[in-house]
Amino acid sequence: MCGIFGVMGHPEAANLAYLGLYALQHRGQESAGIACSDGEVITFHKEMGLVADIFSEDILARLPGHTAIGHVRYSTTGSSELKNAQPFVVDFESGSIAVSHNGNLVNAHLLKQELEVGGSIFQSTMDTEVIVHLIARSKRGRIEDRIVDALSQVRGAYSLLFITRDKLIAVRDPHGIRPMVLGKIKGGHVVCSESCALDLIEGELVRDVEPGEMIVIDQRGLQSSRPFFPAPPHFCIFEYIYFARPDSVFGGVTVYDVRKRLGTELSRAHPVDADVVIPVPDSGVPAAIGYSEESGIPFQMGLIRNHYVGRTFIEPQQSIRHFGVKIKLNAVKGVVEGKRVVVVDDSIVRGTTGRKIIKMIRAAGAREIHVRISSPPTAFPCYYGIDTPLRRDLIAATHNLDEINTYLTSDTLGYLTIDGLRACIPRGEKKGYCDSCFSGDYPVPLDVQESDEQLPLFRGSVRI
Ligand code: 5GP
Ligand code: MG
Repeated sequence: MCGIFGVMGHPEAANLAYLGLYALQHRGQESAGIACSDGEVITFHKEMGLVADIFSEDILARLPGHTAIGHVRYSTTGSSELKNAQPFVVDFESGSIAVSHNGNLVNAHLLKQELEVGGSIFQSTMDTEVIVHLIARSKRGRIEDRIVDALSQVRGAYSLLFITRDKLIAVRDPHGIRPMVLGKIKGGHVVCSESCALDLIEGELVRDVEPGEMIVIDQRGLQSSRPFFPAPPHFCIFEYIYFARPDSVFGGVTVYDVRKRLGTELSRAHPVDADVVIPVPDSGVPAAIGYSEESGIPFQMGLIRNHYVGRTFIEPQQSIRHFGVKIKLNAVKGVVEGKRVVVVDDSIVRGTTGRKIIKMIRAAGAREIHVRISSPPTAFPCYYGIDTPLRRDLIAATHNLDEINTYLTSDTLGYLTIDGLRACIPRGEKKGYCDSCFSGDYPVPLDVQESDEQLPLFRGSVRI
């Protein structure tokens, strides 16, 4: 998971990219970068860390031009280091190109091997670099044709933004696995991961970029095409459950509304006699509101989050993660003491966070703790750009409901079913989802079938 933002046709392109990335910071906190074109050259700046810490007025002033793309990174392929930060900028025969990628390719390791046998030298361990090599080697003329040529060889999830000297090009994979939306701002065009970035810059959401769509924006305006074989849509259902910001809109539906509905459904599926409903902030809040409204049990903030700590998952190591939970959350004694408490969260991955939280609430005096999860058990790893770990590390892959309940030390535990989840998600002719993390149905075939491991995308550098 990563966040991408692109703008063309605005005199303050770099400043807009900065703001856009700031609004997309929840999608990745490891590194950030912006590349700009002034019509002649591409300049860029990228560093490890958070958007607000990386960019200063000085740095932004050194990124001139009307065209910019940016990226915030959360590594799913390639290690967490500067050489893997994006935008990835290269010069080749027909000029400079910069690329920002959200997603994961499932055949990148094979393509990389072939390219290396053919003499290519790789600078990074990112799957995105494979695309750049394929573009550079393409025999086609126009950059958009080279991009299509390159992408017709890759499989997997990609929402991509490219800039050249005089163009902004956006491409979404044929299944539309990762999000991407199109917007407008004062004569300029914007393409970005989520609409919350448009809200911040006072832009206007036009529509989702369609699965398999390529949008080329240049001096003449915007051109849309469908250069790939049509495929059924498989938008990542986890964007609605957890990843996206709740104020973002996909397919005309606000993420907040979906999350609240998940809570309503959860309350119907797993009612319980209790005194108070509390969310695990922030991700569990809308579902807890839905649960509370449907059940009539009062909603309270029984856990307080320290907002100066990033998402727990930022730290790749288990040891740090354990520590992270303690510094991130604290129970409110006055809310939970002597009470029968319903705790609502969006998902359980390893279960380590949940277990700590239950202990914390118990220590604050809760009489009973009923855990309710607004998604089905996460039993399968994601290969398309989300960091759900090795199958054996997913608690629901190796434990049944009773065992998870015992591990968490909760009194009862209830998840949504896949059907319950599907009932809450926007439906329609053009809407289809990837729910492989729950169902194991992978829409893009994997090279390694029945494997217990994440794909060996770049052996030696894959994180977990
Ligand atoms: P666990 O302790 O079960 O591994 O973590 C569960 C928590 O992680 C939930 O509160 C959920 O909001 C969050 N979460 C679920 N999936 C992801 C993910 O892929 N990345 C990040 N950053 N957090 C996740
Ligand atoms: Mg959470």
